[in-house]
Amino acid sequence: MKLNIQNTFTNQLPADENHENFTRQVNNACFSYVSPSPTKSPKLLHVNPELAKTIGFTEENLGSKEFLNLVTGNSLHPNTKPYAMCYGGHQFGNWAGQLGDGRAINLFQVKTDQSYTLQLKGAGKTPYSRTADGLAVLRSSIREYLCAEAMHHLGIPTTRSLSLSLTGDQVLRDVFYNGNTAYEPGAVVCRVSQSFIRFGNFQIFAARNDKANLAGLMNYTIRHYFPNLQENDKDSYAKLFQEIVNATVTMIVHWQRVGFVHGVMNTDNMSILGQTIDYGPYGWLDNYDPDWTPNTTDSQNRRYRYGQQPNIGLWNLYQLANTFYTLTEDAAPLEEALNSYRNQFETQHLKMMCAKIGIQKPNKQDAILIQALETNLKRVDTDMTIFYRLLAKARNIIDCIDAFYIPESLEGEVLTEWQAWFEQYQERLLQEGLSSNERIAHMNAVNPKYILRNYMAQLAIDAAEEGNYQLIDELYSLLKKPYDEQPEYQKWFAKRPDWAKNKAGCSMLSCSS
Ligand code: AMP
Ligand code: MG
Repeated sequence: MKLNIQNTFTNQLPADENHENFTRQVNNACFSYVSPSPTKSPKLLHVNPELAKTIGFTEENLGSKEFLNLVTGNSLHPNTKPYAMCYGGHQFGNWAGQLGDGRAINLFQVKTDQSYTLQLKGAGKTPYSRTADGLAVLRSSIREYLCAEAMHHLGIPTTRSLSLSLTGDQVLRDVFYNGNTAYEPGAVVCRVSQSFIRFGNFQIFAARNDKANLAGLMNYTIRHYFPNLQENDKDSYAKLFQEIVNATVTMIVHWQRVGFVHGVMNTDNMSILGQTIDYGPYGWLDNYDPDWTPNTTDSQNRRYRYGQQPNIGLWNLYQLANTFYTLTEDAAPLEEALNSYRNQFETQHLKMMCAKIGIQKPNKQDAILIQALETNLKRVDTDMTIFYRLLAKARNIIDCIDAFYIPESLEGEVLTEWQAWFEQYQERLLQEGLSSNERIAHMNAVNPKYILRNYMAQLAIDAAEEGNYQLIDELYSLLKKPYDEQPEYQKWFAKRPDWAKNKAGCSMLSCSS
């Protein structure tokens, strides 16, 4: 296999001097060299041929034993030295100290059209594994593999998935942390991103008052990802912070658009490039409920519920601002960047919501129309995705009846309020002066027809655990064109079935993975 290896992260940043795998605190270093653990009998379940090609793999490579061994950590590419990154983070609002890549191992960086890091998730222990095993199970790996690609094809910044493999080993997990442990099939996802640097990679240095390494990492980030900025320059560091603010706003507006709930927005799960990263107990809204979170670990406080994501994005940026301040020692530009978050979010969110209902030129009053829409969507269980898709062709609320979980609930006050809303909406559309067909095309380009509903991923998992991997491939293909009609896949344009409402894996997920 011929790849254009270019390991800038390991070549330009300081390494942990100890090269062993045991769990420890790692000081004065951005990463530690580690070795992936060999696995019993690796088996490739799915590969992403387009991404593989972009990275530089040939079609022949993908079928080879060498590729299988590479993406499961069973052999290394020549002249590469895998590594795990050191980071800290705020978890559920509290500083958690050093976390790091506890089960993610970066293989190498490749340069083609841009730089890509290949990273194995679930390939064994690292110095950052703390008390855990460094492994991943099939169910969570399927969820990560499919969702990252679904997000990419929805046009949402995200890490990508290159391959999904079984390790052949069994992994012990306690899914609901209630003492019911069981063995599950182990798996590894090879994921890919321009960079896996997180807020927490900066935070750990500020927490340790290690300004030299903090500056080193900022300079590295500027050199490779923001070349318009200057290294070793405080103004540029503040500008870098502004760039991270901007990218975070954009990402979260996208999440809100499609009803994606990340589930664990800890600062160690926030990418400095504004990419969606770490697909754990995430979920997608079926019925529109801003208070919903799929993460059972967070069911008490619902800190990371759908409607709270924009505020949490800002809270996380405040933590990152404190980190930047240790270097810049000038609060004003950082505060300015933080203050811009709300304005940017409001503007982009309004624009996005207007686009969802077919308004291309938002005005101030549209915020009221949209608020009324959200109030109505919450009145009785209404499927968010189906609603917006049907809305494109609807003349009144009856045309959207298939979005209602209990169609009979569309009566009395619910019906009256919807009718009133539709009247205003139809009037507003007249001002836009678009033909219906033009408007429908615009709406369908921002309102996906197909998303990775929680129950769909669970069906693929149940089948895979029985040795049938066909549904993984079907969902992978379906989600490549989420905005297209794809009538052959119409069965996936459906509300969550009743059996999935309270089923583990469909409505409830824990961090166990
Ligand atoms: P999360 O919030 O799930 O992304 O993970 C928080 C931290 O726990 C990160 O440092 C992960 O690398 C680590 N972690 C999660 N699961 C495992 C595991 N099975 N083995 C080792 N480390 C893990
Ligand atoms: Mg994480």
